[in-house]
Formats: sequence, structure tokens, C-alpha cells
Amino acid sequence: MFNHIQPSVPDPIMSLMEAYMQDSHPQKVNLGIGLYYDHQGNIPLMRAVHLAEQRLLEQQRPHSYPPIEGSALFAQQIQALLFGDAIQSHQHMVTVQTVGGSGALKLGADFLCHYLSRREIWVSDPTWANHWAIFEGAGLKVNTYPYFDDASGELRFEAMLNTLSSLPEGAVVLLHPCCHNPTGTDLSQPQWRAVLEVLQQRRLLPFFDIAYQGFGDGLAEDSFILREILKTDLDFLVSNSFSKNVALYGQRLGGLSVCCNSLETAANVKGALKTLIRRSYSCPPTHGSQIVETLLADEYLRQLWVSELTNMRQRIKQMRVSLSAGLEQGGSTLDYRRIRDQKGMFSYTGLNEHQLSQLRHQYSIYLVAPGRMCLPGLNQHNVDYVTAAILDVTL
Ligand code: PMP
Repeated sequence: MFNHIQPSVPDPIMSLMEAYMQDSHPQKVNLGIGLYYDHQGNIPLMRAVHLAEQRLLEQQRPHSYPPIEGSALFAQQIQALLFGDAIQSHQHMVTVQTVGGSGALKLGADFLCHYLSRREIWVSDPTWANHWAIFEGAGLKVNTYPYFDDASGELRFEAMLNTLSSLPEGAVVLLHPCCHNPTGTDLSQPQWRAVLEVLQQRRLLPFFDIAYQGFGDGLAEDSFILREILKTDLDFLVSNSFSKNVALYGQRLGGLSVCCNSLETAANVKGALKTLIRRSYSCPPTHGSQIVETLLADEYLRQLWVSELTNMRQRIKQMRVSLSAGLEQGGSTLDYRRIRDQKGMFSYTGLNEHQLSQLRHQYSIYLVAPGRMCLPGLNQHNVDYVTAAILDVTL
């Protein structure tokens, strides 16, 4: 029955990770997969998470089924994180818990297909490779709008606006509110306002994917566009993830929010999302959401989490500064300013395929093609080694 199935193409990021694990070089450096590592090179267990888990353990809660849409408190907390205080006077937002940010994207994609009869989506060129996989997998044709010019390292802002302005009414546009994956290049606030104007003029349907809130400029700053769009009469979707900012990767925790224009519509949209969830995985897992619920509901734990997240963001920035200063001092031909100025976990470095191959085979330094570096893989123990290697391959 199954013999006709051909070998599948392995995910390039996961394959890179496997190659890294098998590499025995004592100075190997993993700048590939999007994971936050601390200055010792470890994935952190955040202290706030640990304390929240301890409390949960003490409460000895049974592991019952949650509601199909996840807990109501968790949904409220997601909305407050994304939209700030303004959400309190907003009645028409529906939020459901999802299986990571990826699950939110897939649920949103199914919703667009099954309930809005959408057949296409526009994503940035380039975007996270799994955006293509998830949306195509759900049956949508994926188109692109111009976003980043790798040769100059600049945003293709005019071209982006022109393309968005030419889309048909109701077209779905995927946007990254902060820490663009893979380029690390974000829109400024005035640029977001200009995009918002086009979204309104053309009556487009934005789908915001925010997977790195807190890694750019801060929790509120990173959701600037979400807070702005809430002031308009536009409908929109938001997928969010707690994989990175609470370091709960394996708990698979995220949310899908849909902003509607009436209470009645919001209730019906919630029903539609529940139907989609029920017929695929029935209801979400509970441990991760209980951690985040406990953490956000307690002022001390919340402050602790915010300060830990701030430290993570600052550590990444320090690494950006160290690497770019080292490259500048060494007279690198690489555009070190990009590495310094881009935001979040990633930089599109401009390193070409040959240089990536040299880094990998001569130095055991792993980056994702084409030239995406995951900055948290750098720390004070390896940054000089990486700087010297990049200088060597780019001279
Ligand atoms: N969107 C983007 C842009 C991402 O980079 C990621 C994670 N790499 C996700 C969504 C999905 O996050 P999760 O791991 O929570 O599924």
C-alpha cells in the first residue's frame, strides 16, 4: 500500500541542525535554527517559568480536557500582550489557543479557505520558509510582495507599497509586526502608518504573524502596528507564539486572534474556529498555557519575565554590536552595519553560498542559506572566532 511513497525532501533548517549535532569540531558554532541561547550557549529555562511551574505542581491540578478554544483567561492575556490597554474597550476580538505559532497560522489558513473562500495569500519576499509550506499545505496559492533587497541590504518599501496598492479588495496579506524572519529588517513606525493607509484604502485583509514579540525593541514597541490597526475599522487576523519570548518551544503554545466588526460576528467566528479545532486535534494541550497564565496573572512573576526577556534582547544586541565592530575593525567587505542594525533573532548578512560553505567546512560555523544568521548562537566565548572566520571568508 505504501511502497509508492517517495523519500520526502528534508527541512533544510532541521537538516543543518542535525549536521551541526554530528560535527565533532571543538569550536563549532550553531547560527542556524531560530532558538535563543544564553551566554553559555544553553537554551534557558526562564526563572519566571520555573517558578510558575513550581506553583502549578503545588496546586496538584488534575489534567482534565480544556475548552476547545483554550482557557478564557489565557485568551484575555494574549489580547492584552498584543494590544495593550486599548483592548479592554474592544469587544469584537476573538482569541483561541493554538499549537504554537505554526498551529495559529494553519488554523488561520484553514479559516481563510473554508469560511472566507480565499484561494491566495501574499507574503513578503523573502519570508520564513514554513509560511509557504503552511499556506500551500492548506490549499492557498502563495504570492509575494517585494520586501528586501539583499544586494543593498535595504527594504524595498516603495515597491512593497506599490504591490499592496495593486491587490484586489479583500486580498490576504501576511505581515511581520516585528523581527522579520529571515531578514531582521522591520518597517519604521511612519512606514507602518503608510502600509496601514494602503490596507484601508484597498480594504485588504491583513494576517499579522508575530513570533518574536519582545525581541525587537520591547513588548509594546514590537506590537506597534497591532495597536495602530485596532484604532481603525479593519478586520484582521493575528497569529502569535510563546515559543521564543517565554522559551516554551516544546510546549507548542500560541494563539490566533481575529478582529471582527460586531459581537455577533465575533461569536460566529469563534464558533467557526472551534469547529476547525475540534475536527483536527479536538482541543489544545494545557501545561504550557497554565504556565503562561500563572506567570502573567502574578505581578512578581510577570515583572521577572519582562526583565528576563529584556536581558535576552539586550544580549542579542550586544552580540550584534560586537560582531559588527569586529568586522569593521578587520576591514571586512561585508556590510557590518546590517548586522548591527537589524532587529530580533536574525540577520540577513549578505554572505553568499560559497562563503557559507567555507564557514561550514573550514570553521564548523553553521548558517541557513541564503546568509541568515541566528544571532543568539553568538556569545562572548565564540564571537571572536566567528568574527575572524567571517573576515577570512570575505576578504
Ligand atoms: N512565524 C515565524 C515568522 C516564525 O519564525 C516562527 C518560528 N520559527 C513561527 C511563526 C512559528 O512559531 P512556533 O515555533 O511557535 O510554531
